[in-house]
Amino acid sequence: MTTTFNDLGLIEPLLRALTTENYTIPTPIQAQAIPLLLQGKDLLGIAQTGTGKTAAFTLPMLQRLAAEKIQAAPKTARALILAPTRELAVQIADSIRNYGRNLGLRQAVILGGVGQNPQIKAMSRGVDVLVATPGRLLDLVNQKHVNLSGTGILVLDEADRMLDMGFIRDVRKIVSVMPRKRQSLLFSATMPTDVAKLASDMLIDPVRVEVTPAATTVERIDQSVYFIDAGGKQALLTRLLQDKAMSKVIVFTRTKHRANRVAEQLSKSGLPADAIHGNKSQSARQNALDRFKTGAARVLVATDIAARGIDVDGITHVINFELPNEPESYVHRIGRTARAGAEGIAIAFCDPTERAYLRGIEKLTRVTLSVVGETPRDTGESPPENGRNRPRTQAPRGRGGRPQESRHGEGRPAEGQQADGRTGDAKSGAARRRRRPRRSPMQQAA
Ligand code: AMP
Repeated sequence: MTTTFNDLGLIEPLLRALTTENYTIPTPIQAQAIPLLLQGKDLLGIAQTGTGKTAAFTLPMLQRLAAEKIQAAPKTARALILAPTRELAVQIADSIRNYGRNLGLRQAVILGGVGQNPQIKAMSRGVDVLVATPGRLLDLVNQKHVNLSGTGILVLDEADRMLDMGFIRDVRKIVSVMPRKRQSLLFSATMPTDVAKLASDMLIDPVRVEVTPAATTVERIDQSVYFIDAGGKQALLTRLLQDKAMSKVIVFTRTKHRANRVAEQLSKSGLPADAIHGNKSQSARQNALDRFKTGAARVLVATDIAARGIDVDGITHVINFELPNEPESYVHRIGRTARAGAEGIAIAFCDPTERAYLRGIEKLTRVTLSVVGETPRDTGESPPENGRNRPRTQAPRGRGGRPQESRHGEGRPAEGQQADGRTGDAKSGAARRRRRPRRSPMQQAA
């Protein structure tokens, strides 16, 4: 029997908001976590973006805050959510606003890169929910503009990214000024030792909920790779983007410089594109994100850090213009498409210097990317397994071994075009999956 949001014990104003959001079935993490969180338990959530974890922690939090009918004192927050990046913090705040639309709770966002005065003002009367990045929050706590001594709910989102970005000390300092008696939740996609240690220090007798190991999201995404020299990548990108089916595309690069170059070149070719990366001001990043969300710009060029937490619905394609040197980043990147049960398309450009990165990615995800074009896969490697690297003169095999139509879209230029942009046969297709059966989070929820 399918679990519904009604079954989870959520109150009517939240159920109404979910109807407005068009959510009908809870994702697995929502189904598992919401009843436990409503009871006030601590939680260790092993989950990445795309699993619906934001609603999993936000809905019970809002319900508990609404039930208490307490007014926040000046400068205090009744609940605190810490996020590693500004974009993620803004998106969590958006979600809270949406889910809490019928509850009339007050919220504020504190993040770096923008002036602190509006944030101080927003906190002056006190809020029910505060979403913050750690550095700026700690500044404001130290300046006594924010008081967390009575904050009864703490959510730490993307703890592994906090660690990567050097925020763990700040997080610990923030936790140290909070009351010991509180409900604490920690979410992380992976569990390196330092995060496990933080979890054991921060959580009391937590329930552990683990959903969708990295590869499950990956399995829902149609992945292919072009083997191409670095010098041919820009032309290939421009050609691929002639396809109108690529209506919302994130292009990833490894460096800020490259992100700028790619966006500039696209704009010169008449394809409006914005770049977002760590050197851009917060308002420039937010503007770029807004243009992308509304469709004013079809293409967003991003570096890994800048793209963390980007939660834009309807991303049709993720293009890995440069492969990441950490295979986990590839999973995070392509997770921008295929949100919450949808399927997406990821295309990688792999130049000869990046082949080791590709091998690392395929090893981690246990997915072999479909090769597009005639350029051979790694020379000097062991012979390809059955069907691997075959010339793409027929529709590739899709999931479950069925022939599959191209998913680049109708009339795409990728068809009949080689990696260098010349014509040839180049049908794309689903990555070949090994071992795992395909299961979407939605199916798991059932
Ligand atoms: P998250 O993992 O929290 O970043 O959520 C990923 C995406 O899934 C967001 O775009 C949410 O709006 C969406 N989402 C979350 N829960 C559901 C649900 N139960 N049904 C449909 N979409 C959802």
